[in-house]
Amino acid sequence: ETETPYCLLEPDLLEQKLICRSKFSHKGTFGHALLIAGSYGKMGASVLAANACLRSGVGLLTAHLPHSGYPIMQTALPEAMCSIDPSDLMFTEFPPLDHFSAIGIGPALGVKPNSRRALKQLLEAKPGKIVLDADALNILSMHPEWLKLLPVEAILTPHPKEFERLVGESSNSYTRLQRQRDFAREYQVYVVLKGAHTSIATPDGMVYFNNTGNPGMATAGSGDVLTGIILGLLAQAYEPLDAALLGVWIHGVAGDLAAERSGYHALIASDVIQSLGKAFL
Ligand code: AMP
Ligand code: MG
Repeated sequence: ETETPYCLLEPDLLEQKLICRSKFSHKGTFGHALLIAGSYGKMGASVLAANACLRSGVGLLTAHLPHSGYPIMQTALPEAMCSIDPSDLMFTEFPPLDHFSAIGIGPALGVKPNSRRALKQLLEAKPGKIVLDADALNILSMHPEWLKLLPVEAILTPHPKEFERLVGESSNSYTRLQRQRDFAREYQVYVVLKGAHTSIATPDGMVYFNNTGNPGMATAGSGDVLTGIILGLLAQAYEPLDAALLGVWIHGVAGDLAAERSGYHALIASDVIQSLGKAFL
């Protein structure tokens, strides 16, 4: 009998993965996340990801922002610390990386040349635990030669369009799934291909399928929330595999709880964040 590489995410499996908090834990126990997201006119992505990151149990969060984003973040989320980019408009330079336990990069970053260069420099600096989403992935599809700079066990969270930009068009969803597996193996990364049934491909060729979540989550900022959750888990003691699996699953559970209040039509990404507490419970 041959073992299939496919596995459905089950609540039992994920519940085991949740790390309990000791009575003597303090904020230093739960890591320090660095979020690099947002550009002029699109600061909401950064606020949503930062909020979701904090709601996922991270000890400390620093949000790196263009100068124009600073008052927005500080007003929206007093719990976040800020690192201010020299640019007023976009990401051009990352802060010293020494005290961060994980990095999340990409939502609403834009793909301007200065941001592209800064992403390349970040990857060259060997950033360790990292989740890449949205424009970070779009930049990589513009510079495929940079893919080899990805740290081992990086987590990539493309939606289908972003994945297609990375690997080309697939004629059907089975071919796409094969490409997802191949990509994860080739670059030794986790590929979280988002959709109604998000699949997570691992560096050793496994694919996990998620069945939490609902069509109400097909709304602006939904993916930014997922990036924040995974970043928050990565920055704590979670292994990349566990951060990816638990992050995807809990994001969907929070979405399902939010839909009980808002319904599919009215649901917005902030509602998903609001339900994270109950989802973890
Ligand atoms: P993004 O396109 O980057 O905003 O990501 C959208 C997020 O919402 C992903 O995590 C998707 O898995 C989730 N999502 C979108 N549509 C659905 C759906 N119909 N059912 C379940 N989850 C969804
Ligand atoms: Mg997105």
